[in-house]
Amino acid sequence: MIHLNKYSVNDKAKNREEIVPLLKNHIIFFSGGRASLAAADFVIKKYPEDNILLYFTDTLWENHDTYRFIDEVSDKLQLPLLIHCAGLTPIQLMFEKKLVYNNMIGDCSKLLKMRVASDYLKKGIKPGIEQWRNPQYLKQNNFIENATLYFGIGFEEMHREKAIVKNWLPFSVNMPLIENFIRPDDVLKQYDIREPELYKLGFSHNNCNGRCIKAGQGHYRHLKKTMPDTFKKLLEEEFHLSMCVSAYRYIIDDQVPEEDQIPQHVQEKLLQELDDAYRDYFYGRADKPNLFIHPAASAQSEYMKIRKYSFMKKKSKTPVEFEYQTESEEYDTDLIPDLLFEENEDTTQHTTKGLRFPSEPYTLRDFNRDEKAKPEQIDLFDIGGCGCFVEFDEQENNMSCNTTFGG
Ligand code: SF4
Repeated sequence: MIHLNKYSVNDKAKNREEIVPLLKNHIIFFSGGRASLAAADFVIKKYPEDNILLYFTDTLWENHDTYRFIDEVSDKLQLPLLIHCAGLTPIQLMFEKKLVYNNMIGDCSKLLKMRVASDYLKKGIKPGIEQWRNPQYLKQNNFIENATLYFGIGFEEMHREKAIVKNWLPFSVNMPLIENFIRPDDVLKQYDIREPELYKLGFSHNNCNGRCIKAGQGHYRHLKKTMPDTFKKLLEEEFHLSMCVSAYRYIIDDQVPEEDQIPQHVQEKLLQELDDAYRDYFYGRADKPNLFIHPAASAQSEYMKIRKYSFMKKKSKTPVEFEYQTESEEYDTDLIPDLLFEENEDTTQHTTKGLRFPSEPYTLRDFNRDEKAKPEQIDLFDIGGCGCFVEFDEQENNMSCNTTFGG
């Protein structure tokens, strides 16, 4: 549920802009994590007279305690908090796009966080939902111009620094936790703020209620152990999403022989039925999707394929052979196992054959079953997780987040 504390910037704050000289602006990208609290504290201490804003982009999928935490930080540090939201959860976004994201493709952080922020700060485009808390602490109404952006990125995430700096040009970016020795736990104590629930449960990030769809086996095992109901719900959502996406792809498939393609007018009817079956479920208005029979069920046998999609992937046990050209017989055996060499007539070129083990879907259902039957095979070090606010390409950067989605 969205946290509804509706405020607007009051006249007092607006008028103040006219009577004080222009102050330097600082915007803290506030993720709801303790590191971003530490970044906020750093800025307050270094620039106590300046205009400082906490900025939170809501995925509507956060842990309930995150909202308590961000409110408490805003109140106790006496900083205005601006919340922006595209109005969709990551699951709803996947349903709208008919994609199941995983750690290789995943637009939820881009569309629900980065683009919302980027559209607003760079282009002045507001998303569908905006809320303020403590706007009276805003020292001037123009809080974007020449602002420095702050991220609570620590040493362990230093590899993200370059991408973030590039992504936010022309703003200047600062990551106080990399350049300074700051202990977020000390800052929590200093303000007597309780850390967010997810940290207490042993999660390393306070993101999306521990359900990050880019997470790995170790993370999901922890989710299952600490929040079994949340894990079970996510498992069900992944299953229904997979069925929905599989049916969608099947209906619109134009790679099969023309005589086997579903005619346009039937496609439209089936797509409407598909939407009717799943929409209320993914928007939280129904406990289960309505009955929808996957059209592959009544297809000729060679097309009777219900494809699986999942958040996690794992290496297939069945290798596939592949070929590529190389000018040298030297090759990296670490990268390409079991290579076989064949020389071409052109002696400078070699056709190299190798075996690779493609990745295949590893659903939470399969994971759940393996975790019970073969717990020793679970890769506990495969944590994965959200890479929100990292670099994304210019083409995407130029797209607006004002895309509207049905609810
Ligand atoms: S935490 Fe994971 S699920 Fe949530 S927005 Fe980031 S990438 Fe997506």
